Amino acid sequence: SSFKGDESGDLSSRQTPNVLYSKAHPSPVSEPKLLAWSNDLAKQLGIEKPTEEDLKILAGNKVTPSMAPYAARYAGHQFGNWAGQLGDGRAITLGEWETESETWEFQLKGAGPTAYSRRADGRAVLRSSVREYLMSEAMHYLGVPTTRALSLVTTGDQILRDMFYNGNPEYEPGAIVLRTSPSFLRFGSYEMLAAAKEYDHLRQLTDWTIENFYPHLSGENKIIEWYKEVVEKTAFMIVEWQRVGFVHGVMNTDNMSILGRTIDYGPFSFLDDYDPNFTPNTTDLPGRRYAFGNQPSIGYWNLGKLASALLPLFNDETDELEEALRSYESIFWDKYYAMMGRKLGLDEVTEEDKKMFGDFEKVLSGVTPDMTIFYQLLIELPIERMEEDQVISHFSESFYETPDGNLKTAFLDLIRQYAQRIKKNTISREDSRKFMQKANPRFILRNYLLHQAIEELEKGENTLFEKLQKAITDPYFNAHDEFVKKRPNWATNKAGCSMLSCSS
Ligand code: AMP
Ligand code: MG
Ligand code: MG
Repeated sequence: SSFKGDESGDLSSRQTPNVLYSKAHPSPVSEPKLLAWSNDLAKQLGIEKPTEEDLKILAGNKVTPSMAPYAARYAGHQFGNWAGQLGDGRAITLGEWETESETWEFQLKGAGPTAYSRRADGRAVLRSSVREYLMSEAMHYLGVPTTRALSLVTTGDQILRDMFYNGNPEYEPGAIVLRTSPSFLRFGSYEMLAAAKEYDHLRQLTDWTIENFYPHLSGENKIIEWYKEVVEKTAFMIVEWQRVGFVHGVMNTDNMSILGRTIDYGPFSFLDDYDPNFTPNTTDLPGRRYAFGNQPSIGYWNLGKLASALLPLFNDETDELEEALRSYESIFWDKYYAMMGRKLGLDEVTEEDKKMFGDFEKVLSGVTPDMTIFYQLLIELPIERMEEDQVISHFSESFYETPDGNLKTAFLDLIRQYAQRIKKNTISREDSRKFMQKANPRFILRNYLLHQAIEELEKGENTLFEKLQKAITDPYFNAHDEFVKKRPNWATNKAGCSMLSCSS
């Protein structure tokens, strides 16, 4: 493109003022093996299953003449604090892949150091690579906006991690994911240029973003119109996270896509028990900034940082920008209520229904049933015969602890209220159930399943991994019911990821 980059190819970690990217090149690995390949995505992109020669590309051992590998410069707010320049420390963009209708940026994650690696190695361990590969694909099949993953390659090299763990160096197998998205631009990409007062570049990047990814926008007001669409897409993405019970875990502004896609899969987790305070990220304790229930308001906070970065493009007339930011709240709630209506199988959403959504939230937070299994059982609720004891036994598979006392009373009240509401539907129970089946996943890629699959892979066994790779492709159906179970006791992850490997 026409952007100014640092073409030196220097991989030493450093500040790179006045450029949008730095030329990079993947560092070779010893013994690449293809562990996984996304057939459907490959078909969609018109790519054949890789040959031995292609495998070299997926492992960073070969760069073809048509590629121009680079690492992007960006910044961000991490845990609420300005972190300065970050950039692609372990992602290298190989180039763009064009299909008839789309352009996809191809990135290798874990292919070695770049100008932005700071003091880290630019590598990724098998553990985190399996997590990103499977989870980004799982999110795609759930219908949640996300980046995709085409391949997962083991490198044959050991990587040093957790040097201080037990006082001994811990080595883990290395891996590389080829991940793809129309773009990996983040809120932090714009924040970087604003903070460095590189306003020409800020305008250039903004114009380019609009031209390429929001091409229906033009004219004088295009920047504000664009920002409004980013607000809308971000709100939609987070509503979708709340629908399926996904906790991102690191909603730093450098991990917020300008396209409203879920990016940068790190210490994420699905909720097992319904706990809005749950954060899967141990570095997010004790504050729980990125807990499930905080995601909607963190979305707003992050959009605020993006708006601040765009201020220099607006002269003095910033009212509209502020107003667009403020509109997030009502946009979010509108989408959230509509989503809850589908999740609960309602024909429409009235003011009274909105109150009932609040009751669901409150009661479920107290009873903490398994979120996924609770909603599956709700679909099958026998609303015509509702003996109290039958209600508790109907939901028994979802309880980590059977509700008692006030919790039991509140739970029974809620289910009674819900049954009455369903009887008022103008649509048939059958249609209502169909809505619910589409809005409530039956299979979710639980942390403990990932954990088990990774442990097996580390021993050279891929049975569970292959099963999960298949199960993620139809999460709303019952073909994979062997995995539709509560989290087992051994995998209790209240304390974040300390029990289960989640990080980089
Ligand atoms: P994250 O929290 O994963 O989004 O990462 C924040 C920043 O740290 C980004 O700039 C990453 O590129 C960088 N980073 C994370 N892990 C590594 C690594 N192993 N080597 C180099 N950079 C890394
Ligand atoms: Mg990141
Ligand atoms: Mg990361």
